Amino acid sequence: MSTGDASPSAPARTSALTANTTPGRDRGSLGDRIGRKVNPVARKGILLATHNRPISAFVRRHGLRLGARQFVAGTNLDEVVVNLRRLNGMGMRTNTTILGEALRDRAAVERVVDQYIVVLDRIAAESLQTNLAVKLTQLGLDVDEDFAYANVERIVRHAATHGNTVRIDMEESARVDATLRIYERLRDAGLDNTGTVFQSYLYRAADDLERLAPRRPSLRLVKGAYLEPPQIAYPRKTDIDDNYLRLAKRMFETNSFTAIATHDDRLIEELIRHAEAHDIPKDRYEFQMLYGIRPQLQQDLVRRGYRVLIATPFGPEWYFFYMRRLAERPANVLNLVRSVVRPS
Ligand SMILES: Cc1cc2nc3c(=O)[nH]c(=O)nc-3n(C[C@H](O)[C@H](O)[C@H](O)COP(=O)(O)OP(=O)(O)OC[C@H]3O[C@@H](n4cnc5c(N)ncnc54)[C@H](O)[C@@H]3O)c2cc1C
Repeated sequence: MSTGDASPSAPARTSALTANTTPGRDRGSLGDRIGRKVNPVARKGILLATHNRPISAFVRRHGLRLGARQFVAGTNLDEVVVNLRRLNGMGMRTNTTILGEALRDRAAVERVVDQYIVVLDRIAAESLQTNLAVKLTQLGLDVDEDFAYANVERIVRHAATHGNTVRIDMEESARVDATLRIYERLRDAGLDNTGTVFQSYLYRAADDLERLAPRRPSLRLVKGAYLEPPQIAYPRKTDIDDNYLRLAKRMFETNSFTAIATHDDRLIEELIRHAEAHDIPKDRYEFQMLYGIRPQLQQDLVRRGYRVLIATPFGPEWYFFYMRRLAERPANVLNLVRSVVRPS
């Protein structure tokens, strides 16, 4: 199965189907050391700045040239297919997503659904090892929950005709209930080629997992990429990481399939030890990382015989996705500033 993740108000102006990458830096760099010190404050600042008009206008205008291409695998389908093929050739599975979120216009949503059908047909025609990850706010959740359900159902049914799978990303905490309801409706309709995502920063995640457990779900576990208040989400990284480990270990028991989606090698190594000590077969879990982040770690895991999936998004609506990548590692902002000051 399954990408990446989301935020408010990004109208789809251009088609993702019609409109390469510098590898990401690895851990331990000056950037990471700075990041660990200033991270929580900077992260909040960057996520808030996402909605600032001048910043948004500047980044939308210059971002692709100044750094977003590290994380965005193409602005159209032809471009992303080149990267999907290349990653598959390196022994990695992939998922893809048409970037965009928070659509409020029915016609715009329907265009996205049509584009996803084209993407699924292209994946099949090219025999790619690629599945889909979708965001419900791009499929009409902010218009009406039944409308979003009908749209995601159409995509999941079409994926099933190709023997493919679709994972529903998890967005802000206000969307968790609706996302779980839609996932459960899909399963009740007999659509088992679908999964969703849990965020370890949410206090509620352990209870939600027990609710889904009888369904033997396929779940991706992430730390969580949005700005959430301390009443809802752990503010401290150590608590988020501890909860990540607890949830992942429980998922090995409850899930049909678990996607460990993190670039955090401490968590990855601990979960490898745990899986091996408990004889969890290697085809019941995989490691997932984002395109352009820690490519060396991605390849090392493949060499060690683990399943690895790279979330490989594309499309012209990359702005919110890129801002979340900057927030996760504020040192990425330094790279952006350096590119502005010293254009190559
Ligand atoms: C496949 C995948 C799907 C995802 N789907 C969702 C989703 O549906 N919903 C959601 O809320 N979130 C999603 N996320 C994002 C996730 O919640 C985290 O924000 C993101 O993965 C960063 O956390 P981390 O686990 O890598 O750990 P961190 O502790 O943040 O990072 C560990 C190390 O990874 C490297 N790193 C991490 N982020 C970056 C970056 N942006 N740039 C450069 N280096 C970096 C650094 O070396 C860092 O020290 C997804 C992430 C992945 C990998």
